[in-house]
Amino acid sequence: MTQSRLGTALITGASSGIGAVYAERLARRGHDLILVARNRERLNALAKRLSDETGRNIEVLAADLSDRADLARVEERLKTDASISLLVNNAGIGATQPLLESNVDTLEDLLTLNVNVLMRLTYAAVPGFVTRGDGTLINIASIVGIAPELLNGVYGGSKAFVLAFSQSLRHELADKNVRVQAVLPGATATEFWGAAGTPLEHLPEAIVMRAEDMVDAALSGLDQGEFVTIPALPDIADLDAYEAARQKLMPNLSLSKAAARYRTED
Ligand code: NAP
Repeated sequence: MTQSRLGTALITGASSGIGAVYAERLARRGHDLILVARNRERLNALAKRLSDETGRNIEVLAADLSDRADLARVEERLKTDASISLLVNNAGIGATQPLLESNVDTLEDLLTLNVNVLMRLTYAAVPGFVTRGDGTLINIASIVGIAPELLNGVYGGSKAFVLAFSQSLRHELADKNVRVQAVLPGATATEFWGAAGTPLEHLPEAIVMRAEDMVDAALSGLDQGEFVTIPALPDIADLDAYEAARQKLMPNLSLSKAAARYRTED
């Protein structure tokens, strides 16, 4: 098999749900793939099916990203494989219980995967993208990154990190020909919900999107050059207004004097 002209996409959390759909769509677009997750059997089955169907080179890199030695193997691959042109930081876990019903050790594990791992893999991949003057980073955040009241606050906070980190990277890498996209899915029909503590069947059908539809919308957003993609949001003007309000705050967030409303009469 010849090497892909589009380069290789490394996808974390590719064994199920959103990551498995990215694998399929990116192979069909012509990328070679490196599939990362813990479940080797599932990854092997997906790799075989996709390489049979698309003729692309598809490799399995089984790793528990919460394990430092396994994570180091994936970081090393990102640092040394110059064929990698796209990183999809998708592996993540959720939590739906409120603070008072949550286990703090489980939430710490969540932060390790959703925040620390994503950060380390990004730091492993981006220098190569910059050197080669070409690369794309897709970070799977969530709508709870901007609406943390909806689920567990630590999960929401982890996704707010993904969005803020992506925002900063986009700014820093603006003139380096490295693309950054943050995807903010709403509820998506995957195994995520059962694992996070709320069966998918408990959600109103009207708010749940198929994973295939979510990923197709996110890839359409990427093709359109979007930085933030919210697949469900009907009117892009609402997102533009949200960003405009943020930009309007910028010049006044750090000044030598407190605002008049906080000054005591003198
Ligand atoms: P999913 O089907 O449960 O997929 C999660 C993936 O992460 C699996 O492939 C899992 O594979 C992998 N993973 C979990 N722990 C791992 C670890 N320690 N090391 C390596 N891989 C690990 O759920 P999903 O909905 O597709 O979730 C993907 C991303 O979308 C997550 O970041 C999630 O926060 C985000 N998201 C989901 C929704 C939703 O409603 N579903 C909404 C917004 C955002 P193994 O078990 O084989 O390791």
